[in-house]
Amino acid sequence: MVPKPAIIDFTVITPASGEEPPGLYLHIPFCKSRCAYCSFNSYACQSPPAAYLAALSRQIRYWAGQQWCRERTFATLFIGGGTPTIYGGSDLAGLVRLCLESFNFAAEAEITVEANPNTVNEQGLTVLRRGGVNRLSLGVQAFSDRLLVGLGRSHTLAEADAAITAARRAGFANINLDLMYGLPGQSSAAWQDSLAQALAHAPEHLACYELTIEEETPFARLVDKGELSLPAEDEALAMADLTHALLAQAGLQRYEISNYARPGFQCRHNLNYWRNGAYLGLGAGAVSCLSGFRVSMVREPEPFVELVQRGELPLDEAECLPLAARFRESVVMGLRMLDGISFARLQRQFGLTPPGYYGKILEELHQQGLVAVSQDNLRLTKAGLPVANQVLARLV
Ligand code: SF4
Repeated sequence: MVPKPAIIDFTVITPASGEEPPGLYLHIPFCKSRCAYCSFNSYACQSPPAAYLAALSRQIRYWAGQQWCRERTFATLFIGGGTPTIYGGSDLAGLVRLCLESFNFAAEAEITVEANPNTVNEQGLTVLRRGGVNRLSLGVQAFSDRLLVGLGRSHTLAEADAAITAARRAGFANINLDLMYGLPGQSSAAWQDSLAQALAHAPEHLACYELTIEEETPFARLVDKGELSLPAEDEALAMADLTHALLAQAGLQRYEISNYARPGFQCRHNLNYWRNGAYLGLGAGAVSCLSGFRVSMVREPEPFVELVQRGELPLDEAECLPLAARFRESVVMGLRMLDGISFARLQRQFGLTPPGYYGKILEELHQQGLVAVSQDNLRLTKAGLPVANQVLARLV
């Protein structure tokens, strides 16, 4: 069934005060196969449809012509998925070129492409680099063939090593590696080994996520049947502690709950999300946040393409978020950053501050030692970081 597109007058969206330059996100919802833990909006296919790229390109041209976009200079472009590099280097470079020609971008814009190791080679990466892509984010997840098989990943350890080497040869000087810990059958020693192998490549950025079991995934079904054995809670905590210690020693500073970077290499696109900044998301299932308007596109690629081909907007939902909801969202997202959030910024944007809005709840969290509150800043403490989800749940 093709969902009805919402009708919105985008010309009425006005800039929120104190708004930072927005980011642009393009979603490629295809992967070679599905990983056992994945709940992202992605679909297995061997050869991705040309019609999807054509529809996405048409959407890029449409949105670039809208007043909200014409009035802004974008600071970042992020092509994510799924596996964007399931399309060839020249297809993706063509998308980047179209974006750079259609929207106003800052001269020093950060341009990231996400990739999986078995979908890249030096030649394709060189095309991307020459096309203006200046940051590569590789989904490695584990430096162990045994663990990669367990996760249902479609690549090997050798392919991960080769992809990183190829990226360096292609000229990428800003590489992120995504890694996961708390995996079935993973010990702290095995995690330490994965981290050491990652660090041997001297990445500028590492994202280290603890495995979470998402509903309706193969892993969730195995957990329900009692057939998946995960590390105990204290072992997972030990892995998290090991991560902070080893990465700090290696000069990678933790700046968000799961993200670490060398100085000057923090992911600007994601920082904008955590600061609850404005962004335009295009592609199946992509979400935009346009000065208080939340707009999402239809989730599945086929109806997305059909609607665009019929000349309709492929929208699923559009809503205007109340000010208090946006304020709470800014607090919850902002606390993910280790620097926390500035009251002056919140006051400027919403006319509200956390102490005034949350009152007793915040006092309790402070007394429990989970948050630090100063004159102009709120952040999670060392004790609050490991239980961030519980703390944030009280502020939603
Ligand atoms: S590669 Fe990423 S998006 Fe694709 S199935 Fe695996 S986890 Fe999901």
